Amino acid sequence: MRAPTETTVHTHEATGRDVVTRFAPSPTGFLHIGGARTALFNWLYARKAGGKFLLRIEDTDRERSTDAAVEAILQGLAWLELDADGEPLFQFARASRHREAAESLVEAGKAFRCYLSGEEETSLKEAARAQGLAFRSPWRNPDRAAPPAGAPYVTRLRAPSENEFIRVHDKVQGTVVTAGREIDDFILLRSDHTPTYMLAVVVDDHDMGVTHVIRGDDHLTNAARQTALIHAFGWQVPTYAHIPLIHGDDGKKLSKRHGALGVEEYRDMGYLPEAMRAYLLRLGWSKGDLDIVSTEEALELFDLEGLGKSPSRLDFAKMGSVNAHFMRLADDQRLVTLLREQVARAGQPDIDKSDEELAAAVAYLKDRAKTLPELVEQFGFILAKRPMARDEKTQKTLSEEAVARIGRMHPVLADVAIWHHTDIKAALDKFAESEGIGFGKIGPPLRAALTGGLPAPDLAIALELLGRTESLARLGDVM
Ligand code: GLU
Repeated sequence: MRAPTETTVHTHEATGRDVVTRFAPSPTGFLHIGGARTALFNWLYARKAGGKFLLRIEDTDRERSTDAAVEAILQGLAWLELDADGEPLFQFARASRHREAAESLVEAGKAFRCYLSGEEETSLKEAARAQGLAFRSPWRNPDRAAPPAGAPYVTRLRAPSENEFIRVHDKVQGTVVTAGREIDDFILLRSDHTPTYMLAVVVDDHDMGVTHVIRGDDHLTNAARQTALIHAFGWQVPTYAHIPLIHGDDGKKLSKRHGALGVEEYRDMGYLPEAMRAYLLRLGWSKGDLDIVSTEEALELFDLEGLGKSPSRLDFAKMGSVNAHFMRLADDQRLVTLLREQVARAGQPDIDKSDEELAAAVAYLKDRAKTLPELVEQFGFILAKRPMARDEKTQKTLSEEAVARIGRMHPVLADVAIWHHTDIKAALDKFAESEGIGFGKIGPPLRAALTGGLPAPDLAIALELLGRTESLARLGDVM
């Protein structure tokens, strides 16, 4: 027996080609959170290197691919602001190129036509399995007598010899060695001459000039077979990085119950795209003890070395705190627009306040909300209509004595020169002093009158945000 030979691998690192990455979703459903993370990593890697990020729609499964899914993927990427270079490439449209590539392998003797019947194939596969070997078709033998003209056939790769080894140098998983005997003579073209997924991916990655393949580790076993096929073509093997899948918070495979939702559902839950990117980045990538990494920072820092080896767990509490961080940083006017959109999505009537008024309130309230729906909730006391509804507990604070005091406070507030919380606070303090009581006595009934018990910031700020007219009217309602 000959000594095992090793195939030399020419990767991108060896040749210094410009970085080209791709995201290659199958349009059989929405863009889920795992796909979004794969897209993000490919986008970051390409953008950081000044290379290209390409989009390929793998729509060869005609039964399961839909236009609606293509649309959902494009919209999801657009929401996440992961822009691809050039137009997306649709895999199915390239079937003739895939066929031509397979035919070129047949001509070069690296692939062959296989005329086995279904039963023959099954029994040969069983025999091979019994010996712990991968299936090899007898039609790989070039000396075999020609079949009857017009007989149906499939086109198969002539798999690597049994003493050859395929090495996948994976940036996450390390070097994964697959013995030639573990790789079967797999099909490139079916009997109806349609290309298989394995062939299409390899040809497309080559034609698109892809240098780095970052994808879920459910494709790791495909990488060995794809590498064998790439060797047969004599093409350069891309650098692989197979990332562990995202699991639910219980460590189990992600399901809908865990939040395996389309990214548009995260948008509807009120997360900001930059927060989503930062959260997804940390879900599978780290650098030192950095916690929240903005996209701008990630464009400086992202590397394949920081990709983790173990599955990451989806954690909504963490997602909320990352989102809160970006809500605080977000521009107030932008949050006003998002707030209006959120209200519309929830089917509530539009807020009849100007953008300026809302922005002033957002500046105070955004620190108190982790998501957009929570921000809408914080606006509750402003949006509420007079007369304010009050629960029993809140109503109790409005004793006769308290109401009489509100009556005396009314003209004091009406007289505040500039309706700003500092002047309002000064007036309230002076009033408390003149009444000979602490602010603690004034606070609860005043809050009850103004907010009906809804969450609200400091009273002086709440008064400022409500505006003088509305504030005085609400006080008037309880007097
Ligand atoms: N279309 C495959 C998927 O959605 C991805 C293939 C690849 O990245 O090579 O899982």
